[in-house]
Amino acid sequence: MAAKKGNLIAYNDLESKIINSGFCTFCGACEAACPVHAIKIEGYKVEHSDCSKHIDSCPICYEICPHSDELVSESLKFVSDSPTKREGLGYYRRILLAQAADPELRKLGHGGAIVTTLLTNAIDTGMIDSAIVSQAETNIPIKPKALVGVVPDDVFSAVGSKFFPSSVARAYGSAVYEYGKGDIAFVGVPCHVLALRKLEAWEHKITGNLKVIIGLFCFWTLSFGHLLDYLSKTYNINPDEIKRLDIVKELIVQTDKGTITVPLSEVKPHILTSCETCTDFTSELADISVGSAYPLKEWSTVIIRTKAGEDFFYSAVEAGVINTGVIELEPDAFAHVIETAVNKRKTALKELNEMKEAYVPVPVKPLQEISILSKFKVKDVMSKKLKTVSPDFTVSQLLDFMAKHHHTGYPVVDESGDFMGLVALEDVVKVEKEKRDEVLIRDIIQKNPVVIFPEELALDAFKKMRVHDAVRIAVVDNANPKKIIGMLTKTDLRHILSD
Ligand SMILES: Cc1cc2nc3c(=O)[nH]c(=O)nc-3n(C[C@H](O)[C@H](O)[C@H](O)COP(=O)(O)OP(=O)(O)OC[C@H]3O[C@@H](n4cnc5c(N)ncnc54)[C@H](O)[C@@H]3O)c2cc1C
Ligand code: SF4
Ligand code: SF4
Ligand code: SF4
Repeated sequence: MAAKKGNLIAYNDLESKIINSGFCTFCGACEAACPVHAIKIEGYKVEHSDCSKHIDSCPICYEICPHSDELVSESLKFVSDSPTKREGLGYYRRILLAQAADPELRKLGHGGAIVTTLLTNAIDTGMIDSAIVSQAETNIPIKPKALVGVVPDDVFSAVGSKFFPSSVARAYGSAVYEYGKGDIAFVGVPCHVLALRKLEAWEHKITGNLKVIIGLFCFWTLSFGHLLDYLSKTYNINPDEIKRLDIVKELIVQTDKGTITVPLSEVKPHILTSCETCTDFTSELADISVGSAYPLKEWSTVIIRTKAGEDFFYSAVEAGVINTGVIELEPDAFAHVIETAVNKRKTALKELNEMKEAYVPVPVKPLQEISILSKFKVKDVMSKKLKTVSPDFTVSQLLDFMAKHHHTGYPVVDESGDFMGLVALEDVVKVEKEKRDEVLIRDIIQKNPVVIFPEELALDAFKKMRVHDAVRIAVVDNANPKKIIGMLTKTDLRHILSD
């Protein structure tokens, strides 16, 4: 790497805080954004030629890198007018299940091949003129190669997930500069999506050509060289023998010779450093997010966040190329998404705190939760429009109620109006499917839920939620604690923080 001069050159920070600290995920946004083309992603390395020869000051590459502190809250504005916000899922208009109508295509995806179907429909109907996708490398099919897809066959060739870094933001830059494309769909994992949103927040000229962002769910990405060395040394598998990887409860490696399963405990040491502190599972800033619908096979979970996302998705539904399903009627799949998202966030925040305590540089700014939450009382932030359920509802009736009202937890109130406790999706999924018409809410209710009074601080609510590992808390009347007057969820608290 060439020497760089000038402290007004952002590359100095990018190099010391991101690249040399091991946080780069090789998206190539810095390459796409650099006004003098001084950055190049070569394989899994960032190369730089001294930009200070051409420019005296430049803030771009550090600010738009998804792992820097900058422009994070500005990036939220692209989705934050959506009506619902839930911890781990972010802001959204609707969440549902979907799959490609074509059963052959579904077999190739890691979900319902929804991303491929949405993109091919959009190219066919002229909604987009290109799509940034990650094809399989010719000799090593598990390695992604970012590509500007211009015809449906390009998009078909990218079906399926490759669990290694892909320089999709660099490919976005080529779509604009080299291909002259003007209506581009972009597909990437949450940090790729953040890079594109930061470019938009920066008002970088290349983002005028962006039509829609499809974000994938992502728990982590694997480090290519590290993992393949390990598989070669421990399991005697060569990279070019591997045909497909799947990650569910273990890593499943399919080769010409057969299938090998590797425990996740052996895989975790080979994830990228940034993934350990990444809080976004569901691509919270995308127009549409897509992930697995585990335990359902050949279905994807789809979160539609923006008007652009809604138009894009329903164009494919109207064309008959996508089947949809109600996620609230599949509580195991719904709970799995929420639990995974919350778990990822929790683990990342714990890791961030440990790094801060050890004075290790952290890639994203920690939230100033304490000072903000102590400014609000519970009564100011609680939700007062209560939807309550009767203890005599069956579990099936409750699921229908959830599908209608789009909340995953409700207070249970008896006929005299007394608050009995809470019931939530996590209680429902414990009831076997066959028994859901018989089991009543009174049998599964959380009888001693965490409660709080309206005059207490939002910070106290936050602490109670942390101590009791609760995602929602009932607000009860000071004079009559049997009377419930509001509900407060972690999402409500996140709302204050992000506002
Ligand atoms: C690194 C990674 C980790 C993931 N982790 C999870 C997880 O923990 N839980 C979960 O529910 N889902 C995860 N997913 C998403 C999931 O694997 C599917 O991609 C998603 O459900 C969409 O499935 P589909 O069948 O609709 O997509 P398809 O129609 O098969 O399309 C997949 C799209 O993914 C893009 N793609 C493939 N590899 C990459 C890559 N490395 N970087 C950027 N884009 C890529 C391709 O361009 C393609 O267009 C992950 C995906 C990736 C790439
Ligand atoms: S913008 Fe992307 S490629 Fe550039 S340093 Fe950041 S993560 Fe790495
Ligand atoms: S974007 Fe380019 S010109 Fe600007 S600081 Fe980074 S490398 Fe230098
Ligand atoms: S876990 Fe986060 S940082 Fe890692 S690849 Fe996925 S989105 Fe990027």
